[in-house]
Amino acid sequence: MISLKHRLTLTYALFISLSLSVLTFIVNQITRQIFTGLIKQNIAEKSNDIVRAIGEQYNPNSRSFDIVTIEAIGMYFIHEGYILTVSDERGNFVWDARSHNMPECTEVLEAIAARMESKFRVGGSFQNQHYPISYAKQPVGNINIETYGPFFYSETETLFLSSVNRLFLIAGLVFVLLSVIISILLSRTISRPILKAEEAARQIAALHSSGSTNRQNFRIRLHEQYKTKELAGLSHSINVLSHELEEGERRQRQLTSDIAHELRTPLTCLQGTIEAILDGVWEPDRENITSCHEEILRVTRLVQDLNTLTNLEWENINLNKTDFDLAELLQVTAEQFKAAAYKKGITITLNLTTSPINADYDRLKQVFINLLSNAIKYTDQGGITISLEPPAKNRRISIVDTGIGIPPEDLPFIFERLYRTDKSRNRNTGGAGIGLSIAAAIVSAHGGTISAESGNGGTIFHVTL
Ligand code: ADP
Repeated sequence: MISLKHRLTLTYALFISLSLSVLTFIVNQITRQIFTGLIKQNIAEKSNDIVRAIGEQYNPNSRSFDIVTIEAIGMYFIHEGYILTVSDERGNFVWDARSHNMPECTEVLEAIAARMESKFRVGGSFQNQHYPISYAKQPVGNINIETYGPFFYSETETLFLSSVNRLFLIAGLVFVLLSVIISILLSRTISRPILKAEEAARQIAALHSSGSTNRQNFRIRLHEQYKTKELAGLSHSINVLSHELEEGERRQRQLTSDIAHELRTPLTCLQGTIEAILDGVWEPDRENITSCHEEILRVTRLVQDLNTLTNLEWENINLNKTDFDLAELLQVTAEQFKAAAYKKGITITLNLTTSPINADYDRLKQVFINLLSNAIKYTDQGGITISLEPPAKNRRISIVDTGIGIPPEDLPFIFERLYRTDKSRNRNTGGAGIGLSIAAAIVSAHGGTISAESGNGGTIFHVTL
């Protein structure tokens, strides 16, 4: 498989070279056309100059031409590629370049033909142009000018054109070289961040699949700041992914250590009490056995809760749906907590509107028991208000307390298994951090949502069904 860097380099190099070749070709063609136009004009002007110069050699008194000067002019123009034949008005021969120096004429014409055909690929033939010579508006003779046509380049023009072509060739080569360098640089700028992201993703994948136990390993981050939107997005996503995996790993460890802690505490109590009874230090009386029984119940509850949660999360919960009034369910549940609230000196206010619903009564009751028991557990003064908005498309319930609130950094995690804001896992407040996970799983099984808001003045739980 071809690498991104090579593919980009090839694409750029091809694109730039092609564009430059097309541009060079067009410029070359236009230059050539303009140049050919100028050459044709130059040939026509030179022919007119010849005619004028020869015309000036006419002597009206003797009614003849100055042959010596005409010969000098003719000889000069042979080297320029113009072969002259001059005759008087009666057609009598005056001067002819070929008769004067045939070998030189042939040599010059052949050299021009060879140059035009081989160097410039302009096929042509020798062409004759006739011009009348007049004096005081009276015809006094004729000139025939033979040249290579439709046009030809003189030696100086050939040299000029060759230099221009050479220049184009060198410029072309320099451009191709430059385009390759630019392509390499460009493709490197684009591919480098992608390669870095790919490398980071590969490392993360390798660590994840190898089940690495080193937490440091997930600290893979891309630190570069990219100005390109997509590259910045890619780098950000990789960092978020790495952070999430790191967090997931951390929470998994936390979960394992929390379960171990939750089991160790009652088991240590049990072990201590039973060993003391076996050693005869304590009596196996009702009080000690009740203490053991309570610890066993605590472990059983934890295992049951974890089991319930696993079932709710992993299996399709079979909801036993019936028609009932949600307001009535909330009222019955609140009744159960009246005594506990009274004991703590807090009030429970109900703000309910009759709201028929088709749902699993027992499971929803479990949700409100968990929310209310938390509200009472974490509230020492003030009160709890349970509201149910009038029936609309969704049933919206809110449970507001004036308790200690939840720190903002904990808020996103409170619905996770065994997550507790109390990091010391103080047993005074009781729970193992499973109640909200169970509530969330039940609400989600009903296609609803549960969320929490919190500040210093208390917590609000919203349930939408
Ligand atoms: P727990 O059994 O420990 O209460 P939950 O899953 O019910 O476990 O709650 C998770 C954590 O969320 C609790 O440990 C507590 O820190 C916090 N929490 C839940 N409800 C409230 C509330 N009403 N006020 C303050 N903190 C709360």
